[in-house]
Amino acid sequence: MTSAIAQTTATFSALKCKECGAEYELKASHVCEFCFGPLEVTYDYNALRRSVTRESIQAGPNSIWRYKAFLPVATDNPIDVGTGMTPLVKANRLARRLGLKNLYIKNDAVNMPTLSFKDRVVSVALTRARELGFTTVSCASTGNLANSTAAIAAHAGLDCCVFIPADLEAGKVLGTLIYGPTVMAVEGNYDQVNRLCCEVANTYGWGFVNINLRPYYSEGSKTLGYEVAEQLGWQLPDHIVAPLASGSLFTKIYKGFQEFVQVGLVDEKKVRFSGAQAEGCSPIAQAYREDRDFIKPVKPSTIAKSIAIGNPADGVYALDIARKTNGNIESVNDAEIIEGIKLLAETEGIFTETAGGTTVAVLKKLVEAGKIDPEETTVVYITGNGLKTQEAVQGYIGEPLTIEAKLDSFERAIERARTLDRLDWQPVLV
Ligand SMILES: *Cc1c(COP(=O)(O)O)cnc(C)c1O
Ligand SMILES: [Zn+2]
Repeated sequence: MTSAIAQTTATFSALKCKECGAEYELKASHVCEFCFGPLEVTYDYNALRRSVTRESIQAGPNSIWRYKAFLPVATDNPIDVGTGMTPLVKANRLARRLGLKNLYIKNDAVNMPTLSFKDRVVSVALTRARELGFTTVSCASTGNLANSTAAIAAHAGLDCCVFIPADLEAGKVLGTLIYGPTVMAVEGNYDQVNRLCCEVANTYGWGFVNINLRPYYSEGSKTLGYEVAEQLGWQLPDHIVAPLASGSLFTKIYKGFQEFVQVGLVDEKKVRFSGAQAEGCSPIAQAYREDRDFIKPVKPSTIAKSIAIGNPADGVYALDIARKTNGNIESVNDAEIIEGIKLLAETEGIFTETAGGTTVAVLKKLVEAGKIDPEETTVVYITGNGLKTQEAVQGYIGEPLTIEAKLDSFERAIERARTLDRLDWQPVLV
């Protein structure tokens, strides 16, 4: 009964092909039958403009579900594990280091429950999966998505089988297995995993969050746009920098900003969109550099596994947004990614994974090339947590000074550190 009432008030109205505009009913499907274009959820923005205010959003839960009117679910009881509303941190020390004045970090390294932005998309996808009657959920993952799908499926009591490339970081594998799903470690890269999953999705009646549920799943990333707008005091930033894997997250931050303008929650502003890729998997950055409007798939080889998608589904749309907003798409190599992880940790106390290292390193590169104005309000999206990719920085960080539990042993150690020039601060004595 409640769901019937909710259905009548839901503001999402159809699935629409991004290429030819054909409309479909709101079922589990992701490609257009006519032109094979991707399907996207549409909304009744006039209804949203009338019903949603800043106050009504602020009166909602402290999670992504405060924006439920903009998300493709009908239920009044979405799966809410506290996902979203992560800190937007004014990054003064990183800004000073880079020569910027108004830099913010959107810190999804502490997103709930599995410490990456993927919890946003999965919370939405599994809520929708339940509405559509699925009892088994699945995904093709570069790591973080498997963590999120397994955790949130466990919370919701859904059966779960996830597919990952066999060579993922230990933290990502353990961080999936702990929730008790079936895990298929596929001998191949992500693009091969994804192809296999498309076949499985055609054979089994499962809800694959990023395949047949993709139109619903991807909408969850819009909350990264809404939250930044709300946290900046209902304003849009001047410039955002975000990582690109499939390109979905990037395009949905854009959609989120546009929707807030369209329904009158924020004033219109030209926001510049810049994207970050790892050089070892940079098909979108290459197309950008070579001024192409199509993507040439690549075979990934980088430590940034979470964003290693060689054939990005939303690559052309991300490319288009970067170009039309006067942004950029840049790539950095693995050494720069490690430096990016360390730079963010040492200046802001935020330990990110390789995707975040990529984004920080690209930020630095763009600043050095004069492509970010020091005065611009710039928001950098940090999408994952460094504790999951520890092997990436192993060997590139300091070691503890092992001492006896005696004051003189401590004093000798600190003297040794000083003479070896390993202390860049002055110990204060009473
Ligand atoms: C998946 C992922 C991304 C990129 O997501 P897309 O929407 O596919 O572009 C970025 N950062 C992290 C940490 C991820 O896990
Ligand atoms: Zn179409």
